[in-house]
Amino acid sequence: MATSEQFQERLRRAVREAVRKCLAEGDLPEAQEGEAGFTTIEKLALAAGDAVSLEVFEQQLAESGMGPPHCPRCGFEGKRLKQRDRTVQTRRGLKVPLREQECYCPGCRRAFFPSLPGSGTGRGL
Ligand SMILES: [Zn+2]
Repeated sequence: MATSEQFQERLRRAVREAVRKCLAEGDLPEAQEGEAGFTTIEKLALAAGDAVSLEVFEQQLAESGMGPPHCPRCGFEGKRLKQRDRTVQTRRGLKVPLREQECYCPGCRRAFFPSLPGSGTGRGL
């Protein structure tokens, strides 16, 4: 399994061309009057980071939502009821839209929300 550093390095190589292309197109947000050049670049960097983060969340969350939902109490396969949309804030303050599926377990006769892999400790994001 890759370390965070290895993943980051791989990701960096993958986005290098995309960032270069996007910056070369110009049409960048205008700098505030008197804004330091570093601050202008930092704003672009933060926006780029948020864009990549959102993409990772979107793709990973979409993948984790596949397959039948299983009841966390008895493991029985539940029925999908309805979807609930909410927003989760990451440790860096990025707001990520989250679509949760409300499910029902016929065995336990209760509703549940299938948790994401590795979630539940409050330290996952
Ligand atoms: Zn159950």
